[in-house]
Amino acid sequence: MQQEVIISVKDLVKNYGDFNAVKGISFDVYKGEIFGLLGPNGAGKSTTLEIIETLRDKTSGQIIVDGINLDKAPNEIKKIIGVQLQSSGYYPGLNLTELIYFFAGLYNEKVNAMELLDIVNLRDKAKAKYKELSGGQKQRFSIATTLINKPKIIFLDEPTTGLDPQARRNLWELIIKIRSEGTTVIITTHYMDEAEILCDRVAIIDSGNIIALATPDKLIDELVASGFEKPKEVKQANLEDVFIHLTGKNLREE
Ligand code: ADP
Ligand code: MG
Repeated sequence: MQQEVIISVKDLVKNYGDFNAVKGISFDVYKGEIFGLLGPNGAGKSTTLEIIETLRDKTSGQIIVDGINLDKAPNEIKKIIGVQLQSSGYYPGLNLTELIYFFAGLYNEKVNAMELLDIVNLRDKAKAKYKELSGGQKQRFSIATTLINKPKIIFLDEPTTGLDPQARRNLWELIIKIRSEGTTVIITTHYMDEAEILCDRVAIIDSGNIIALATPDKLIDELVASGFEKPKEVKQANLEDVFIHLTGKNLREE
């Protein structure tokens, strides 16, 4: 089946002074997929995302988002994407409902705050302040804010870092739900189990180069075909399975 390309990155280079952080990478993201950008710290993931998000200048290369050339109409790209803010971006004195209306005002969008909070399971926190939320709730709220302008694509940079296993699973369900509504998702993560479960395709980036790009299944099959074997006596479960078995999947924070 021919996939429709929604983001096309060609020969992207980013230099910070003399430091070559992104070294001419090219990749496409398909409409409606969950695309993972994986790689060690400092690989260039956030730099790449922020350039596509129009928040950071590139050194060279070409980027097209939903047919819009980033060099020609960055503001048109801004309108169709949702970007997760760092937590410092939320006014501490406002409650969640007020924050949503504040952001909606910036986007010039009409939203129903309660509907949006329902999507991320935070209706009962509508009057709570951002700083009063748990880590998982903060992540869910910041995902809600990415949806305010009804974007075609959302960008999630390490949304599950630091979360407990229950909150992580809860966020996977949320991301899958958002994708099922037709939204394309680009996500970075250091958790390979998460990437394997969530991502339709992943690009592995190392020191500014893409060194692999395929479905998780294909990458695993290729490794096995190359003669790779796991150390013997692989157990049928791991410690995370034990943890979830003992403590259940229910969220604890609320
Ligand atoms: P990742 O998100 O994969 O961890 P980043 O894109 O944040 O990687 O960073 C890639 C490299 O670029 C790192 O070596 C980082 O130190 C460097 N870098 C990132 N931002 C800047 C900046 N504003 N100025 C100089 N170097 C930077
Ligand atoms: Mg990063």
